[in-house]
Amino acid sequence: MTEETLFSKIATGEIPADIVFQDDRVTAFRDINPQAPTHLLIIPNKIIPTVNDITPQDEAVLGHMFIVAKKLASLEGIAEDGYRLLVNCGPHANQEVFHLHMHLFGGRPLGWMVKPVE
Ligand code: 5GP
Repeated sequence: MTEETLFSKIATGEIPADIVFQDDRVTAFRDINPQAPTHLLIIPNKIIPTVNDITPQDEAVLGHMFIVAKKLASLEGIAEDGYRLLVNCGPHANQEVFHLHMHLFGGRPLGWMVKPVE
């Protein structure tokens, strides 16, 4: 069995979080350290550590994450102004939690896609 993660424990309710959406395939909750007025995390309930671990069998759940992201952007009132969906993978992207997750940022102009390294 795949080891539990911080985010799988949020999905099962073992660790509290502000869950904004959940179904049998995905869970979405507010980031604990928001970097924009709207900052949600959308995860597959199934544990997939990184994008490098996805398989063709994950295609449906990954597509579903986009459908849920679109729905949540609308519910948050940011669909028209625009928003950013982002998935970090591995050390160069500073991935901190090894349970694949899509960030949904919005609610203000978000600037350039990749901040220059200082
Ligand atoms: P990463 O860098 O792995 O793409 O992003 C991990 C995100 O998870 C960060 O934005 C961080 O603030 C968020 N995070 C870390 N621990 C928790 C937690 O316990 N609860 C919630 N809601 N978010 C968390």
